[in-house]
This record gives sequence, C-alpha cells and structure tokens, in this order.
Amino acid sequence: MTSEGDQNSAGVSRSDDGCLEELDAKWMSSIRRRLITWYRRGHRDLPWRQDRNPYHVLVAEVMLVQTTVAIVIPYFHRFLSQFPSVEDLAGATEADVLKAWEGLGYYRRAKQLHAAARVIVSEHSGIVPSSDRELLALPGVGRYIAGAVRSFAFDQAAPIIETNTKRVLARWLAWRGVLNEAFSLSHLWDSASRFVPRKGSGEFNQAFIELGATVCVPKSPRCHVCPVNGLCRARTLGLQETLPVVAKRVGRAKVFEACGIVEQSDRVLIVQRGRGGLWDDFWEFPTVHLSGPDPARRGTGGRENLVDGVRRLTGIQIESGPVVRTVRYSVTSYSVELNSHSAVAVGGDPRPGLGLVQVRWVAPHHLANYSISAAYRRLADWYYSA
Ligand code: SF4
Repeated sequence: MTSEGDQNSAGVSRSDDGCLEELDAKWMSSIRRRLITWYRRGHRDLPWRQDRNPYHVLVAEVMLVQTTVAIVIPYFHRFLSQFPSVEDLAGATEADVLKAWEGLGYYRRAKQLHAAARVIVSEHSGIVPSSDRELLALPGVGRYIAGAVRSFAFDQAAPIIETNTKRVLARWLAWRGVLNEAFSLSHLWDSASRFVPRKGSGEFNQAFIELGATVCVPKSPRCHVCPVNGLCRARTLGLQETLPVVAKRVGRAKVFEACGIVEQSDRVLIVQRGRGGLWDDFWEFPTVHLSGPDPARRGTGGRENLVDGVRRLTGIQIESGPVVRTVRYSVTSYSVELNSHSAVAVGGDPRPGLGLVQVRWVAPHHLANYSISAAYRRLADWYYSA
C-alpha cells in the first residue's frame, strides 16, 4: 500500500503543526488517485448510488442527516415508492409526508424536504436546480446537502464536509483544532474544496465518505488496510488515534414527563400537537411536564398532576392508575423519561387545550394511521400487544 515516495510526500518534514498554508498538489493528487482506485475495487452498494437522479440524491441526503445508513435504506425505498417524483412529493399532504417519515426522527427535515419539493415545482418547473445559489435557497438545504447534490448528481467540483469527511480530512491534514469550532470547519471546508477534482467529483466525494464510514472510523481507524496510509499525516505522526480533537460532550439535561393511556369503550384518547414546539402536528397520548427543562413546552409554570393535566389538555376527566411503563428517549440535548399510566375516562367532552389542535377517541388498531413519534409508537405497540 505504501511507497517510499508516498511517505515523503506525506509532508511531515515540511510542517508538523497541522496548519498547512499550502496543500501540496502532488500529495493531494496521490491521495485522490489512491482513494478512487480503492473505491472502484469495491464499496457498499447503497441505493442512492444507483443513479444520479438529483431528486433521489436530495431525499437520501436529507434522510441521512443525524441518522445511519442502515436505518435510512428502508425509509429511502418506501419514500420513493410513495413519492416517486418531486411533483409527487410536492403534491402530497404534510400528514402523508410525516407518516412516511415516522420513526426516522428530526421531523423538521421532512417538512423542509416537502417545502423544498414545492419550491422546486413552483420556481424551477420541477427540476432540481444545480447551482449553489439556487440549492441553498431551498428550505433545509445547507452547504453539505448543496455540495452533495452538485457533486453526486451533476458532477460539479463541490466540496462536502460531513461527519465522515470531516474526520478523514482532519487526519489527512493532522489538523489539531477542535473539530466543530468555526475556525476548524472553515479550514476543513477550504481544504476539501482544494481536494475535490474538477472531473469525477461525485465519485471522489462518495469515496471520501466511504473511507470514513468503513476504514477511517472514529475509534481505532483501520490504517493497516487504508489506501492512503502512506500519505496520511496523522498516521505518519502516530496521531491517528488522538485526532481529530473533539469537544467534550456536555451531558443531556433530564426531562420528566407523564402521559395517560386513557380509555373509554374500547377507544383510546390521543391529541395532536400544534405548531411551534417539538413534534409539530404529531399525535400522542395526553402528556404533562413534571420536572426539569421543558423543551416540548408542555408545562404551565407550576406543578401539575396527570389528572389535572389531562383535563386541561383534553377536557376529559380521568381516573389514573399506576405507572405501567417508563419510556426513555433522547431528543436534541435532552434525555426524556416518560412515565405512562393506564387511565379511564369518567366524564367530559373532548376539546383541545393550549398547544394542541385536536383531541380524538380512536380505536387502538387505528393508531397506525396517525403520525406518532417513535417513543409514543413504542409505547402504544407495547401496550396494545401486551
Ligand atoms: Fe484514517 Fe488511518 Fe487512513 Fe489516516 S491512515 S486516513 S488515520 S485510516
């Protein structure tokens, strides 16, 4: 894998402070060549690599934000069979889009993709634009997604910096700045733009991601099988295990909530959240905030028990039983502990309280027809299959 010439062109003698003023053209060219050769020998067969349809690329890249490839693959297939073209997506209702996205999380992304499809249809005649300016004007499209669409679909020399490429590049350069700080990101974007070739940029960027996902992994990078191990400055300096430098994670803040699985005559009570908080438009069992931060804005400012909270939220009076299950999940920087209680309705008529738009009695087997966040879906599936 390594030649003497490559070792020298790793450039360690030129500068070992990780702050290259000039990237050596020969060194970059050797990395590109080796990376592409390695990629062509074999790589993961991902569905969004089957063609260069810009709509497919856009859907895949939006789905992949904050999620793993393995999770995205079935969603990608289902989403495209339900919305095969950008026109189909633009013409869908938001409820249908959210339903197709259910379980993938980061639902704002689904709404933004839907809004982007509508802009593409209304302002670009249904054709995904190829310019940086027009792509960046689409809802939810930032620098990375714009670069991915430009390079993967249109083979434009656009750089990409995402989780994998950021790490790989920091190691190639032996960059010692803290990875997600603005100065580091600016340096890495600038370096990536110099690496990306004028022709074959899509393949180069795919190979770049592939190396980070399969070889130059966060812990214990597999340098012995890496196609650029003789050119990598971190490896040459023995820093592959310590770079990149990442800021220490701050622990997630704890949130405590309670919900009622309120039943009446073989039906269960669900509420639909309004706009302006977490899980806009999603359905859930009526839920109150107990303590800790309140990212979903459920609280009233004072202490509230479940019985009072359900009456305030739904107009329904309940008798609540003990906790039947505790569901724990994370959302943004919060760790939520949700205690669910079985409960029965003893009076009242359904009417949505503050922050909600609808209250409904539904048959449990109809819950599958509603957009419900993953935590509540888990809870409902458990409760009604137990
Ligand atoms: Fe990553 Fe090691 Fe390859 Fe460098 S040599 S790019 S640290 S796997």
